[in-house]
Amino acid sequence: MLPGGKRARRGARQVLANGSVAALAACFHSLSALAVLALLGAVAAATADTWAAEVGIRLRKQPRSILTLRPRPPGTSGAVSLPGTLGSAAVALGGVAGSLADSLAGDSVQAVYRCPVCGASPEVARHAGSPERTVRVSGVPGLENDAVSWIATATGAAGTVLFYQLLLS
Ligand SMILES: [Zn+2]
Repeated sequence: MLPGGKRARRGARQVLANGSVAALAACFHSLSALAVLALLGAVAAATADTWAAEVGIRLRKQPRSILTLRPRPPGTSGAVSLPGTLGSAAVALGGVAGSLADSLAGDSVQAVYRCPVCGASPEVARHAGSPERTVRVSGVPGLENDAVSWIATATGAAGTVLFYQLLLS
């Protein structure tokens, strides 16, 4: 193994994990807020259709044509079912709940560090590429970005199920 090979591998993985998001963010950077919303709305519409079909198929309810209301086989284009449609709405609401949980956790329990040498505030206990030890100034020890992401996705999962039950009742 090359010297520092493990670090290099980790670096490549981080570039892949964060780079794709960064590349997307860079694409969005020059666009106005409304253009970003339009783009995300298009992605949401494309995926919501898939989500509704997935939920509808698993619930084994008879889908119907959205125009004629005649029964259609599950998964057919133009076929809708109430549980499937409510399921896609629940996914959207659960996503909002998860996003708010992310912000709440990030603003309260997420650990915040400060480097006593250069004053930087990295989101992890160590500087990127520096051995300097940072000091935690607030938040729960060790509760970093990954944990906050877990809180957000867990809230999204629980919220979606909850919203779905509420919408169906
Ligand atoms: Zn520093």
